[in-house]
Amino acid sequence: MTSTDTIAAIATAVSPGEGGIAVIRLSGAQAQAAVRAVVRTPGQQLWASHRVLYGHALAADGVQHLDEVLVLVMLAPRSFTGEDVVEIHCHGGVIAVQQVLDRVLDQPGVRRALPGEFSQRAVLNGRLDLTRAEAISDLVAARSRRAAELAMAGLDGGLQRHISAARERLLDQLTELEARVDFEEDLPPLDGSALLAELQAVGVALRQLLADGRRGEALRQGLRVALIGRPNVGKSSLLNRLSRRERAIVTDLPGTTRDLLESEIVLEGVPITLLDTAGIRATADAVEQMGIARSEQALASADVVLLVVDGHAGWTDEDAALLERLPEGVPHLIVANKGDCPAGPMPDTIEPDVTISALHGDGEEALIQRLLQRCGAAETGGVVLSLNQRQRDLALRAAEALDRSREVAAQELPWDFWTIDLREAIRALGEITGEELTEAVLDRVFSRFCIGK
Ligand code: GDP
Repeated sequence: MTSTDTIAAIATAVSPGEGGIAVIRLSGAQAQAAVRAVVRTPGQQLWASHRVLYGHALAADGVQHLDEVLVLVMLAPRSFTGEDVVEIHCHGGVIAVQQVLDRVLDQPGVRRALPGEFSQRAVLNGRLDLTRAEAISDLVAARSRRAAELAMAGLDGGLQRHISAARERLLDQLTELEARVDFEEDLPPLDGSALLAELQAVGVALRQLLADGRRGEALRQGLRVALIGRPNVGKSSLLNRLSRRERAIVTDLPGTTRDLLESEIVLEGVPITLLDTAGIRATADAVEQMGIARSEQALASADVVLLVVDGHAGWTDEDAALLERLPEGVPHLIVANKGDCPAGPMPDTIEPDVTISALHGDGEEALIQRLLQRCGAAETGGVVLSLNQRQRDLALRAAEALDRSREVAAQELPWDFWTIDLREAIRALGEITGEELTEAVLDRVFSRFCIGK
């Protein structure tokens, strides 16, 4: 399979009985010829770039109509892939569009596209950088409004600009260094401390980007919020109240533990998985023990824990025991419920973060704001970046390589030692944007895509 093949696939989601239209996309030198062989356009319609034609897709006998279609022609280089792209807009559903695709695939030089192959060609032909290609994938996969916003920011090139700028600064320094390695005596001496300062400054910028990206990623992936509290404090009431706010987009998450009560909700555009870990209490029952182990795992994996207490009954030893058992490093909020009733006794050392009434809804807004703040999601109004795992690994690799240059400087090693780490950092950043493309990079990125993208 070579990149000169013409590829074809259905580019829209296909399901029986659904969708007004379904789009077949072709890319490559044979795209036009293949579509002309399959679609008959009546009258004197002009097959020119960036025009829409009307016609019928025909069966192999050249007579029977498979579907009534529109054809969109986008000739190279003004297309998504940079190659000739032709789209056939069929009616929705499954059967007709599949039949038309089969006809297209019967044409000489046309084969079925691999997952992500359209985007891959767009990258290879310089129509799209890697971060934008990944942003498209993220946008399609977005489960919440905020996730879509972040993906759009990536598509607008936010990440690309940051990474490219950092890489340019490093390339400038590398050029200086390499000149010294080759022609030390002909050039003015290099200021090692200024060089080091510049490398460190780029390192700091990358770490800042990583921190922003982590918050962005939390928004993209959603937050896990665990609810704990002794019986009858109002956990279920709170869960129900929060669940009613905004309809969850996804309710069934793969790989979730069924024993835990999980529900997915969206708060302020951030997807949130609520875990009701009711099982946490001392027990001798083996089965229940297992449930508890899972609940404790869930607690440890939570982004924030809500310890719900009965504000009317006041603080109890059981509440203290639960607080004691919260995993270290996971932020928590103490939520005093039943705020509609007179407050019971609280020890001086315990200050509820928020008082609510799960029954009547008082304090709900405050709780949500505190919750988002606690997970760092509230400050992300201004965050316009999210880094995926691949991008994060590479940015970290670059930052660490830059850290090593400090050691090289301390040991006063010759210039060519400096270039080793610098090259490593430049290569890692280039892999993020696709300026340094390798087979492995392409595979890693595009294997996550689905066919037709
Ligand atoms: P859970 O066992 O922690 O899930 O607690 P539930 O949600 O089942 O609530 C236990 C009892 O407390 C129920 O009778 C609720 O109606 C009551 N309850 C829950 N929240 C409030 C509240 O904010 N105010 C009052 N007055 N009662 C509440």
